[in-house]
Amino acid sequence: MFELRKYLIPISLFFIVLIFSLYSFDRNVDHITLRRAKMFELRVDQAIRDIILRMEDFEQLLKASRSLLLVKDSVTRNDWLKFVDNLQIENNFPGVQGLGYAVVTDPKGIKRITENIRKSGQLEFQHFPESKEEMMTSIIFLEPFKGRNLRAIGYDMFTEPIRRKAMQAARDSNKAVLSGRVFLIQENRLNKQPGFLMYLPVYRKSVPTSLEERKKHLTGFVYIPFRSGDVMEKILSEEYPDLQFKIYAGSDKIENSQIFPTREQFVEVQSKPEFVKDTTFALKGTTWHMDASTSIAFGSTYEKRQPYLILFSGIIISTLLLILSLLELQRKEQTMKELELVRTLDRKKEEFIGIASHELKTPLTSLKAYIQLLERTSQKNDYQKAELYINRASSHLNKIQELISDLLDVSKIEAGKLTLNKEQFDFDDFARNVIESFRPTSEKHQLVLIGETKNAQVCADKNRIEQVITNLLTNAIKYSPDADRIDIILGKDNDNVTLQVRDYGIGIPVEKQQMIFNRFYRVENENHKFQGLGIGLYISYQMIKNHDGEIGVNSNPDIGSTFYFNLPAVKS
Ligand code: ADP
Repeated sequence: MFELRKYLIPISLFFIVLIFSLYSFDRNVDHITLRRAKMFELRVDQAIRDIILRMEDFEQLLKASRSLLLVKDSVTRNDWLKFVDNLQIENNFPGVQGLGYAVVTDPKGIKRITENIRKSGQLEFQHFPESKEEMMTSIIFLEPFKGRNLRAIGYDMFTEPIRRKAMQAARDSNKAVLSGRVFLIQENRLNKQPGFLMYLPVYRKSVPTSLEERKKHLTGFVYIPFRSGDVMEKILSEEYPDLQFKIYAGSDKIENSQIFPTREQFVEVQSKPEFVKDTTFALKGTTWHMDASTSIAFGSTYEKRQPYLILFSGIIISTLLLILSLLELQRKEQTMKELELVRTLDRKKEEFIGIASHELKTPLTSLKAYIQLLERTSQKNDYQKAELYINRASSHLNKIQELISDLLDVSKIEAGKLTLNKEQFDFDDFARNVIESFRPTSEKHQLVLIGETKNAQVCADKNRIEQVITNLLTNAIKYSPDADRIDIILGKDNDNVTLQVRDYGIGIPVEKQQMIFNRFYRVENENHKFQGLGIGLYISYQMIKNHDGEIGVNSNPDIGSTFYFNLPAVKS
């Protein structure tokens, strides 16, 4: 709970920026989708406008051709050729297959026309197909007069229902009219594609106003055959690579009326286009249907990526913010810890000075008292008492000496000047001797030696290791005032000898166990019951470390502590 509160600011900051980026991402996606949808609508409208405009151009072309027929009484094939040649259809009207004229006649008329045309040198002219209709038409001019177009000369378009419908509509409205989907007579099996035609009626000179008159005065049709794939590709493909179209000549979406794309032009439509639109539009007396959809090229890549860029930057920024604020938090904590450490050390130093003066003062005062007593007894010549006082004074003097030598050790360790006089010896013998010489100082506690190292040899500074064992024993006695036994356990594991000192005393709380080997560290006891400077274990730790050994403790409060150290054994 406390931990969570500590991280509240960085975590909230992280989530605020993240939520904000998610929100912006969402808004941006909406905004961009809307903009793209509008752009798509505009592009589709523009494409339809382009188709309509191009058809207007074609109508103008037909109107110009009709004028030619009206201004001259009998237009020859040569006139037509010159006229079309001059227009440079292929360059100026891309997609146009040709420009033709179909005369309107009857069975009698067609014979005369055929004869006249053959007489003029076009011997192969043939009207087709056979028809018994009263009204007949026959293509007499079609330029360019070459290739596929030759096949259409003489064809009666009125015999075919789709063409006839458009021709009738053009005749009756005096307007350019587009046919539905057909296959042009020009088509051969190779590269066959659908097409459509645009018709404009030609009447005898005066312009008829009524339907009757239009039917009566009709002399023929100028017309343009289109290969639908060619013409639509010219209008759409270059200008609209970002869109895909399906166009039907007719308002119904049926396969029979699809004029674009042709089978050869068919490209794999994007499986799930971003936008689609179904629309119909009026075009030259007919209706066309268009299915438009976006291709992968629709819109700029930047635009498509923009929301993701925002989201990505948001995630990066929020993560960076989180990391930065966590680092800042950590830095603050570190500073706090350092400050706390400085304060603790200061407190410890002061405590140490207080304790050290007290620890020195106590034996000094006693020493002084015994010397005064000695002075008095010397006057009385009481040698028995004098000896007792001298012994007591010397024991206090020893204490002072031990304290001072401990302090000197600390400063040596600090200065890195601790020297070791190593020698090889039998660890069992050594440990036994140390314990025996310590035994007299222990009045209440019984020292029990358990185990052995089987006469393992070590190479160490005897005095220093004795100092460590003595210190552990002194502590064991000092911190188990209510117990009467201390165990010393010897052992050997792998390449080390081990010595453990087990007491049944006050123990050490787990969280303090790491600290007790620090300089001046003392576990706070109630009423500072135990005297000491907090340097014994620090010295022991340094000694063992300098011997490449390990020292540690296992302890349970109120059950007791086991201090242990190990030293490398000499390999035999
Ligand atoms: P001190 O002079 O205070 O005994 P030490 O460096 O020898 O200094 O020990 C550091 C602290 O470790 C002691 O103050 C004491 O709190 C704790 N300690 C050491 N040995 C024992 C033990 N056998 N049982 C419980 N606590 C101990």
